Amino acid sequence: MKTKHRTSLKSLNSFGVECFSSNLNIINNEKEITDFIISNNDLESIILGGGSNILFKNDINRPILKIEIKGIDIINETNEKVLVSVGAGEVWDDVVNWSLTNNYGGLENLSLIPGNVGSAPIQNIGAYGVELKDVFESCRTISTETGLLKIFKNNECNFSYRSSIFKEKFKNKYIITNVIFRLSKLNHLINYSYEPLKNDLDKKNILNPTIKDISKSVIEIRSSKLPDPKKIGNCGSFFKNPIISDLDFRELTNKDKDIPFYKISVNRIKIPAASLIEKCGFKGLREGNTGTHDKHALIIINHGNASGNEIFNFSQKIKKKVLKKFNILLEEEVNIIDN
Ligand SMILES: Cc1cc2nc3c(=O)[nH]c(=O)nc-3n(C[C@H](O)[C@H](O)[C@H](O)COP(=O)(O)OP(=O)(O)OC[C@H]3O[C@@H](n4cnc5c(N)ncnc54)[C@H](O)[C@@H]3O)c2cc1C
Repeated sequence: MKTKHRTSLKSLNSFGVECFSSNLNIINNEKEITDFIISNNDLESIILGGGSNILFKNDINRPILKIEIKGIDIINETNEKVLVSVGAGEVWDDVVNWSLTNNYGGLENLSLIPGNVGSAPIQNIGAYGVELKDVFESCRTISTETGLLKIFKNNECNFSYRSSIFKEKFKNKYIITNVIFRLSKLNHLINYSYEPLKNDLDKKNILNPTIKDISKSVIEIRSSKLPDPKKIGNCGSFFKNPIISDLDFRELTNKDKDIPFYKISVNRIKIPAASLIEKCGFKGLREGNTGTHDKHALIIINHGNASGNEIFNFSQKIKKKVLKKFNILLEEEVNIIDN
């Protein structure tokens, strides 16, 4: 394990916020985690992957464990399926590309999502009609309290929309060291139910898309509407899309009849947070060094020199305005970190 002191975190968070860590530990294997926990048992450390879903409000004095455990291994396969074990520190999109090169299906809709493999289960990453839970078999973890190994199977992770047991009940209680995926080798389940993806394939006259076609379209759509964090600091969607009851939805439409919505079950309705934020006048708005993206109101951006606190305060302003206007309390998707 390598430990660095007084290190800038600017290149380790996709908001590109400048702040410093007094104790940054680079982790390359499970034993280094266990050793760290045994010798630092009363310190609440911060677990860091690719930093694309994290906002550091200020300098960080707690130890940071940056997980860089590598490796992609096939551990079992039949004619139809393959089980692939991947180190938490592998870059997510590299693994997607590896699966496409080998013609393994399941990850193609999740192309180009920033971040590392170990963070993917935390919020059950999802895009274009697919979520991590659809391909997740299990993960290896180490308890931050005991240093002991624990394996979580899919049905033990409480996966839901942008959440899991690791973001709720067991927040910061387990460090994911490795994830096992179940991918298809034949008869890939091609999913283009998501409207913009379907439209793109129609436009290209692709009637029977392959997993590579799906990935290519996803990449093209994402690149056309999401800001590249290497150019403009951001963490993707800052808030989750709120899910409300039928009753609350009726109340909402009394206030505004044009709110878009998706019925996700008999009594649950998902509202795009971007539309609420836009209706509050925030789309493309700049305040000092921060603001929202001009193509996507749900994306808060760093115009260059924003501090973590500046971005956080702006996000809370949005939250207050949406609550006041629509009586809906937005919930952060991004993980907010205090020192
Ligand atoms: C431009 C852009 C687009 C995005 N689009 C999407 C999208 O379409 N869908 C989507 O779901 N997300 C999206 N995101 C959010 C982000 O990519 C995902 O949440 C990703 O999984 C974060 O990975 P990371 O390694 O960067 O996590 P980090 O930001 O490093 O960490 C995120 C959280 O996970 C915890 N964590 C990290 N590693 C571990 C570990 N090994 N064990 C335990 N806890 C850990 C951290 O403590 C933190 O709470 C987007 C982000 C950006 C910048």
